[in-house]
Amino acid sequence: ESVVNRIAAGEVIQRPVSAVKELVENSIDAHSTSISVVVKDGGLKLIQVSDDGHGIRYEDLPILCERHTTSKLSTFEDLQSIKSMGFRGEALASMTYVGHVTVTTITKGQLHGYRVTYRDGVMEHEPKACAAVKGTQIMVENLFYNMIARRKTLQNSADDYSKIVDLLSRFAVHHIHVGFSCRKHGASRADVHTVATSSRLDAIRSVYGVSVARSLIKIENSDNNPSSSVFKMDGFISDSNYVAKKITMVLFINDRLVECTALKRAIEIVYAATLPKASKPFVYISVVLPPEHVDVNVHPTKREVSLLNQEVIIEKIQSVVESKLRNSNE
Ligand code: ADP
Ligand code: MG
Repeated sequence: ESVVNRIAAGEVIQRPVSAVKELVENSIDAHSTSISVVVKDGGLKLIQVSDDGHGIRYEDLPILCERHTTSKLSTFEDLQSIKSMGFRGEALASMTYVGHVTVTTITKGQLHGYRVTYRDGVMEHEPKACAAVKGTQIMVENLFYNMIARRKTLQNSADDYSKIVDLLSRFAVHHIHVGFSCRKHGASRADVHTVATSSRLDAIRSVYGVSVARSLIKIENSDNNPSSSVFKMDGFISDSNYVAKKITMVLFINDRLVECTALKRAIEIVYAATLPKASKPFVYISVVLPPEHVDVNVHPTKREVSLLNQEVIIEKIQSVVESKLRNSNE
């Protein structure tokens, strides 16, 4: 059974960055305002995510890492209106089958926190009382220690670390009311560092730099056309002053970080036609759709999103982008 669990877990957590994504999404779900990530050896030695969220109750600790244990999905109707990012209750459990997980947490009003370690879905010992300030810290050590082949394919720790930095950068641009930091273990300087803000431009500036931030145009589908009110969209796109070698597209649909290759291509096409010299833009788009238009049952590791009426949505975004670019170019 343990081999089966390990294989399944290895599917959910494919690389260190998948673990970081799940941990950070949990921290966001816990209403944190500050999330910091420390990574050692590309995440294979250590991933540590600390937040200042609502913490985990003592009585939830024994089952925290059991598969399908989640605090976020109680009824079938919830499935239709998923707000929180996690709903499968599989991420933490999976991590315990392919790494050593330590949770330190404190809930509001408690005098001390608790620390527990987990292996293969179960607590290794009773929760131990310990000092804690606020929120939750989760450490995953020795990821894939029991998956030799996986470890071998992940030898390039610089590559995995840059994937983690890229992930945190994207979260920081969208979740501006949360401050993020990401650093290598032992490093004094953080590679991502933002403070909670109410200005999206400030967030983009602190992550992607002034030259990106200076070139941004706000986009929005604020027209009153009822046929387009199925979805709301807003974001920032770069103008002719921003020249890069490849496109950066930060896309959130219903607050979930996703990829949409078709949309990315569609936007590149608009830029190639209107701003050929700046045809590799920076694009941040946040789309809000009725939940029933988004297929939430795609495999947990798949970032590629599947949407109902995808073509209509892409065309709409394309036309908003195009008209903004034409205006800015006049
Ligand atoms: P899911 O997010 O799908 O519910 P996870 O396996 O990611 O499943 O997490 C299991 C549960 O652990 C969550 O439902 C939540 O109750 C709790 N949890 C995990 N991380 C945190 C955190 N940082 N702060 C508070 N609760 C957490
Ligand atoms: Mg989760």
